[in-house]
Amino acid sequence: MSVPSKTPALRLRLAAAAESIVRAGHPWVFAASVRRQNRPGKMGELAVLYDRHDEFLAAGLFDPDSPIRVRILHLGKPQPIDHDWWRKRLEQALSRRAGLFDEQTTGYRCIHGESDSWPGLVLDRYDTTLVLKLYTAAWLPRLAEVVELLAAGENRIVLRLSRNIANPARVQFGLEDGQMLHGAAPDGPVVFQESGLRFEADVLRGQKTGFFLDQRENRRMVESLAAGRRVLNLFSYSGGFSLYAARGGAASVCSVDISRSALAAAERNFALNRNFPAVAACPHELAQADVFSWLPEAAARRFDLVVLDPPALAKRQSERDDALRAYSRLLAGAVERLHTPGMLVAASCSAHVSAGDFFHLAREAARQSGRGFEEWRTTGHAPDHPVTFPEGEYLKCIYLRFR
Ligand code: SAH
Repeated sequence: MSVPSKTPALRLRLAAAAESIVRAGHPWVFAASVRRQNRPGKMGELAVLYDRHDEFLAAGLFDPDSPIRVRILHLGKPQPIDHDWWRKRLEQALSRRAGLFDEQTTGYRCIHGESDSWPGLVLDRYDTTLVLKLYTAAWLPRLAEVVELLAAGENRIVLRLSRNIANPARVQFGLEDGQMLHGAAPDGPVVFQESGLRFEADVLRGQKTGFFLDQRENRRMVESLAAGRRVLNLFSYSGGFSLYAARGGAASVCSVDISRSALAAAERNFALNRNFPAVAACPHELAQADVFSWLPEAAARRFDLVVLDPPALAKRQSERDDALRAYSRLLAGAVERLHTPGMLVAASCSAHVSAGDFFHLAREAARQSGRGFEEWRTTGHAPDHPVTFPEGEYLKCIYLRFR
């Protein structure tokens, strides 16, 4: 998958510290760490990194527009990065998922970016639809070959482009968010199964790739905790946690989200699962509201199980302090809505807020409520979302039981 060119290979030398970090397996080289470069690089071309002794160190994808200047593809001995190499790399990612899911779960992540050695690229399956999401324009010149690798035997592949892929790059390569890379466009949301529950995913326009596949294990846990409980699902999106809770025998479920279309999808997802008597029997309340104002307004209401899963509140490091304050407010508000006994399930998907910091905030909110509580468990990444480097760790969840 080389970008044909007669110009010499793009060769980079890094600052000593960055060299060690790359050698230890970190997948990113920041622009500030590039000490020497033999010529300007083109978007997506292969950059070859040499160490201080002029020995081959690694090869990666060059992105002149991103502060992450190179994303490492290969470390160690030099190797031709050809079609065969890419095919093996794909097989590695797929074999990592072998046996994780049965026919009851047809939506899951097949490739999780850097941690599957496909830096800046995510591939999700929703039944017979594949969604390819790119977080760097460096993949755009290679897209045709990637699609050829993925398309064999597949029904359709949808392209999703992250916001950080700038317009000029989209125009240059003639690509847009939500376009088809293979097969015909779906005529509506795609329906898939997760743990036997049916969900729709808006693969063309929905958040992420259309669904939050990363919360599957926590949703399963919530199902096992829901029997007989009044459940509150804050930031519900299309009702993932709500449906698991309903099937688990919740006495009632209240889904709160600011987005009307997310709640409409939640309603349709409940309709899709009426075949489960517990779902059909569970009263489901939908509240379109800003959770920050809904929580104090609902001061008189009590729930036995509260799920708090806000969007990433710190998208960059500079937003971290504000995010910590916002989490504290949400956690305190969620604890106030809890009946005793009750269970709080609180998650954070902000990569810039560490698990340690988030768990600390949750314990603090519990302590300040003056109520007795115990920590039931904490969880991290689902097995189809492996993480191999610190910046890749974003999802953490804590379960606190109030007595
Ligand atoms: N828990 C969900 C994923 C949540 S994604 C799941 O398992 O699928 C975050 C959701 O928060 C989105 O649906 C978004 O519409 C909603 N949201 C963002 N800001 C909000 C706010 N201030 N109040 C309520 N909902 C908000």
